[in-house]
Amino acid sequence: MRAIHELQPNTLWQHFSAICDIPHPSFHEEQIRDHLINFARAHNLEWLSDDAGNVIIRKDATAGMENRAGVILQGHMDMVPQKNNDTTHDFTTDPIKAYIDGDWVTAEGTTLGADNGIGMAATLAILAATDLQHGPIEALFTATEETGMIGARGLKPGLLQGKILLNLDTEDEGELYIGCAGGARMEINGQYSLEAVADEFSFKTLAFSGLKGGHSGCDIHLGRGNAIKLLVRVLQCLQEHGVRIASINGGSLANAIPREASAVIAIPESALTVCAQIIDQCSNDISAELAVVEPDLQLTLNDAEPARLLMPLADQHKWIAAVSACPNGAQRMSDSIESVVETSLNIGVFTVDEGKIYAHVLARSLLGSCNDALRDAVAGLFRMIGAEVVYQDSYPGWKPDPDSQILARMQQVYHGLYGKTPGVQVVHAGLECGLLGSKYPEWDMISFGPTIRFPHSPDEKVHIQSVARFWDFLVATLKAVPVA
Ligand SMILES: [Zn+2]
Repeated sequence: MRAIHELQPNTLWQHFSAICDIPHPSFHEEQIRDHLINFARAHNLEWLSDDAGNVIIRKDATAGMENRAGVILQGHMDMVPQKNNDTTHDFTTDPIKAYIDGDWVTAEGTTLGADNGIGMAATLAILAATDLQHGPIEALFTATEETGMIGARGLKPGLLQGKILLNLDTEDEGELYIGCAGGARMEINGQYSLEAVADEFSFKTLAFSGLKGGHSGCDIHLGRGNAIKLLVRVLQCLQEHGVRIASINGGSLANAIPREASAVIAIPESALTVCAQIIDQCSNDISAELAVVEPDLQLTLNDAEPARLLMPLADQHKWIAAVSACPNGAQRMSDSIESVVETSLNIGVFTVDEGKIYAHVLARSLLGSCNDALRDAVAGLFRMIGAEVVYQDSYPGWKPDPDSQILARMQQVYHGLYGKTPGVQVVHAGLECGLLGSKYPEWDMISFGPTIRFPHSPDEKVHIQSVARFWDFLVATLKAVPVA
């Protein structure tokens, strides 16, 4: 079997193979940073590293190309560390075991890091090449993109001189990305005093499972079920029959659509039959509503350990009402870009336990003002029931520029190579371009990349032929960059 460093284009895959050998999960990027700096030294290229942990490497224009606009090739250094439950792997010390599987490169039991390792490898291959034609190049390797875009956030204006930024961090070969949504996270906290149980209750675990989940930006238009919202809907029906909440555990991340949510509930003995009927009815209704998108959803009721302390009824009513009323999912489609969500919200986490209530919510929008308005509306709703709401890191969107010069040039170049026009996309997720563009408003920006499937999961894989096309397109684009 071929090894990945034998694939074509050869230098790109050799660099990618080397990157796989260097541990680089988010917040553990020292070794990959050293690798980049050592590369610059070995190739006699000017480099610098800033306070935010970003690395910049400069390469002069090739002969006759000195008058072209400067290009910044940008990608992030870190990767998402995810592994299967049965895989033993320490992301801070162990190399990624990448291998060829048919038309794809994937990794044994872990994320591959093609996001954004292929982008980094392509940039290093351009910096190392002696047989290409290009104007002045700056490579910008940003730190810790996957958790908070820390490098892009900390980048100082005035450091870079180029005028065109090519972000190599999107995942559909043949598509050019020209815009993205901004995001704003918020944490919602509440408290209640635990109430001892007096009545005769039967304790059960009520749980939703089997939902698809997905990315709260890229997948929000698909109408998938949010396990938290569905669970709260059933609880609202049950509480009319005296059902009490001992605890709730829903979702895991603000930016993931929750796949699972469960509650330990106390059902009055006298209401067991009617509650079972209600749960059946809810299960049938919801399964019918979501039959097409969520064919595997399950609502189950199982015996639970008795809990001695419950949430007081008044608090329960308030919180169930507020989470029920909280907007969720796509709120509005874009008026200017067809089939793209403009504004959305995801309730990603909701927990009730031991006197504490916690929710983590993420609003996204192509328009900053809509993001703010939605965030404020949700905050108002929860403040009305006495919750404490904290706004966390927000990041700006990237406003599409349909008249972009580099977009027109890249469309021509792609057509010349492959005989078809690439698609133009705006993504309802965050790209570093939003933050970068806020520091360098004069930049003309495009994002593109090879085809990667299931990024951020142990199934992550990159399509080998698409990497070759992506490389040829990148090389041809650099040659065709307009005069400054
Ligand atoms: Zn990425």
